[in-house]
Amino acid sequence: MAQQQETGAGSEAVDGVFIDDVTDAGAREEAHRARGTVRPITVVGNPVLHRECKEVTAFDDELARLVDDMFASQRAAEGVGLAANQIGVDLKVFVYDCMDDDGVRHVGVVCNPVLDALEGRERVLDEGNEGCLSVPGAYGPLARPEYAVVRGRDAAGEPIAVEGTGYFARCLQHETDHLYGYLYIDRLSKRERKDVLQQMAENTPRYETVPNE
Ligand SMILES: [Zn+2]
Repeated sequence: MAQQQETGAGSEAVDGVFIDDVTDAGAREEAHRARGTVRPITVVGNPVLHRECKEVTAFDDELARLVDDMFASQRAAEGVGLAANQIGVDLKVFVYDCMDDDGVRHVGVVCNPVLDALEGRERVLDEGNEGCLSVPGAYGPLARPEYAVVRGRDAAGEPIAVEGTGYFARCLQHETDHLYGYLYIDRLSKRERKDVLQQMAENTPRYETVPNE
């Protein structure tokens, strides 16, 4: 997908080693959210969701606190992935707590993510529905490559790479998109987008959101 390659345009890709985001997934997620504070979720229309976020340059305590708050907020909203701009922070960071198609749970954090272009690899698309905490109560059909590799840095600034298949691959693409100012609804047809926004209008979010002005 051409759109997918475009999302990486603003950042310089780093070669990182593939991280183990499976071992102790539950304990790591719990430790983050125990330290964190739940923050309300920004929704479609909030400017912070519709522009490219700033690169992370300081891998410090403040970033660690942001990551903790993101895990706490993700859990409270029952999400499988959360980007920093979804709690109103203009920084390229996302967290995830997501099962792949084999039922394996992945937990991690990626700063300054860039998706691999997957050149030379057969593009197998996963047809499925997608939803977003920033488009509460709505789902829409969106085909995405069923395999993704994202490269970036961990919260300590070390170069990392994360590999995902199936639903987890979708998550990695969705969260990276967020940090470049794209929501999944931006990839839908006009009619599908309208339908999704209609669903959102008809439902009350199950978690606290930031009102749009
Ligand atoms: Zn989202």
